[in-house]
Amino acid sequence: MRVSGVDIVIQKSERKTVSIFIERDGTVSARVPEKLSDDEIRDIIKAKEYQIFKNLAEWTQLNENAVKREYVNGQSFLYLGRNYRLKLVDEKLEGIQFKRNTFLLSKTDKNKAKELFVTFYKDKLNSKIHPIIERYKNQLGVEPNQIKVMELQNRWASCTPNGNVNFHWKCAMAPIDVLHYIIVHELVHLIHNNHTQAFWNEVDKVLPNYQEQVNWLKINGVGMSL
Ligand SMILES: [Zn+2]
Repeated sequence: MRVSGVDIVIQKSERKTVSIFIERDGTVSARVPEKLSDDEIRDIIKAKEYQIFKNLAEWTQLNENAVKREYVNGQSFLYLGRNYRLKLVDEKLEGIQFKRNTFLLSKTDKNKAKELFVTFYKDKLNSKIHPIIERYKNQLGVEPNQIKVMELQNRWASCTPNGNVNFHWKCAMAPIDVLHYIIVHELVHLIHNNHTQAFWNEVDKVLPNYQEQVNWLKINGVGMSL
């Protein structure tokens, strides 16, 4: 639906209010109650026009933080919230190696650098998240089913109705405190499958300064890319 010159993706669902948000890729989406007509939806969105433009302007500004990375000597890559440089080496290595604060990659593997970085982040995240989950799941009294590190569309983590919890491999780029927040956020969803006040209260009980991590993701999330 096009409103005030902006294309808006309408998602109808069982809900009472309309919420409009900007996706990570800049798409504007509106979640609307199923029973509203197109005209009603258009009127509500039109009334929120100012907010939409404001959010779009913010999105554009945040995206100036997006980095286009190339797999060349000296290029920096994020790992646990810090940037480290890539060094291309002559010797044959097993995938990406991280040694003395430097990423090492064989020159002969340059053409598959991206996929090797993904493997690196997946492996590292897999080894980081389990002890953290172990710690918070007891505190929260939840029992996740399967835990997976994978490629997720527009989110850092997700959970399914049967208690499986998935994490985007990009979470390995976030500082450890942010990773704690992402994990707690998802585990709390096993208690409250929504973002109600009760949900945030529960997050707050475990991580009283979680807002700092939310802000970090808002500002740096777009830079968490390959
Ligand atoms: Zn959530």
